[in-house]
Amino acid sequence: MSSPSPIIHPLAAPNLSEADIAAAVRVLRSGALVQGPEVRLFESRCEEFTGATHAIAVANGTVAIQLALTAAGIVPDDEVIVPAFSFIATANAVVLGGATPVFVDVDARTFNLNPALIGAAITPRTKAILPVHEFGLCCEIDAILTIATQHHLTVIEDAACALGSRHRGKHAGTFGALGTFSLHPRKIITCGEGGVITTSSAILAERLRTLRNHGAAVPPHAPGFVAAGHNARLTDFQAALVASQMLRLETSLRHRRELADFYFQHIRHSGVTLPLVPADKQPNWQTFHLLLADDISQSDAIARLRTQGIGTNLGAQCLPAQEYYRARQNDSCREQFPNAWRVWRQGLAIPLHDTITLADAAKIADAINQLPSL
Ligand SMILES: *Cc1c(COP(=O)(O)O)cnc(C)c1O
Repeated sequence: MSSPSPIIHPLAAPNLSEADIAAAVRVLRSGALVQGPEVRLFESRCEEFTGATHAIAVANGTVAIQLALTAAGIVPDDEVIVPAFSFIATANAVVLGGATPVFVDVDARTFNLNPALIGAAITPRTKAILPVHEFGLCCEIDAILTIATQHHLTVIEDAACALGSRHRGKHAGTFGALGTFSLHPRKIITCGEGGVITTSSAILAERLRTLRNHGAAVPPHAPGFVAAGHNARLTDFQAALVASQMLRLETSLRHRRELADFYFQHIRHSGVTLPLVPADKQPNWQTFHLLLADDISQSDAIARLRTQGIGTNLGAQCLPAQEYYRARQNDSCREQFPNAWRVWRQGLAIPLHDTITLADAAKIADAINQLPSL
């Protein structure tokens, strides 16, 4: 058997500059490794970039959602509306806090929560909506906020993929009570593991700073432990790594837009549907996600592109179809969440990131255009 061909164009790759690495090394040499001035510097750069009043850095994007739910007062037995198509952490974070995720189907062209289906999922136990800005395209947040106001629900935006994404010019994560971001290598900037939460509320910000640090009161309060908090702090060397990347985030976003434009112009295949970008949204192109017609096999497409050195994968999961949630819900997912099911089974995320060039994109578009139909 021949060995598998090398991946020349991975689906995602971190882009760490010498300056980013030097910033982290300076912290390592200082000996002060845990949450400190670099965390605050990173937070202030996030506040400036997103326009959020407060940014609170945490250990990862999953705990960011968990802490946001806790800070918002979500308790066991509450229900939280979650899109049926996302990364599993969106639903897990709800369950880990003891609450129940209630799945709602998505739109098959934007891959985002369909606001028209939310009303039917609301019960007297519903306390919050947790919409995802899937693949870095803002969801229909105006309609979601209107429903939330009508039903007195809190909106927490899972903006894990959406650093640099905007809706009507306003940054993702600044519409709801809280927004959560991830700093995993699959996202826009990275320090391995990391996350950040945004809010305009001083009260929620203070609660989050306490919850991430063992429940320790924050100044000007007297020292003491006022909550059963997590240890969800980001280290200072990780913060230095992402604080440095924040300085060239605009450059990265420009490059990503250029690549997305190129794909829109050059991917032409009767069995491949390109993502829909509503006119009021400015995605960060964290992921470029195609939808394959039923006569193209997703696994064959991934394998075929792999032999050409191109890393692709399915984009996200139909959450209620995963074993744990299937057992809890006893759903027939395919009928109940037809779009989430379809985009899970027929979606294809293709390489689009800082280190992909236009020449690479031309090769990748070509390879996709050659995909055989059944
Ligand atoms: C990546 C991701 C998360 C989890 O972030 P981690 O930093 O990996 O914990 C949550 N929600 C969505 C939509 C994501 O894409």
